[in-house]
Amino acid sequence: MQFNINIPCPVCQTQIPADSNLLLTGMQFSCPNCNAAIGLSPKSAPVVENAMNEFEELKKEVATKKNMTNE
Ligand SMILES: [Zn+2]
Repeated sequence: MQFNINIPCPVCQTQIPADSNLLLTGMQFSCPNCNAAIGLSPKSAPVVENAMNEFEELKKEVATKKNMTNE
């Protein structure tokens, strides 16, 4: 499963766009604002996990409300 998530920069709190698959492979992403490098660490792992769980919930929501939107 692959999707884009945003990780808050530990330095300036900017939302850094990251690809979940690449993140899980240990790839590092740079903050567009302060250039801080972030990667999957014990600190950021819960963020990824939360994002994935939220994404799963979102998918369920979309599935059940599919007929109510004009997507
Ligand atoms: Zn930053």
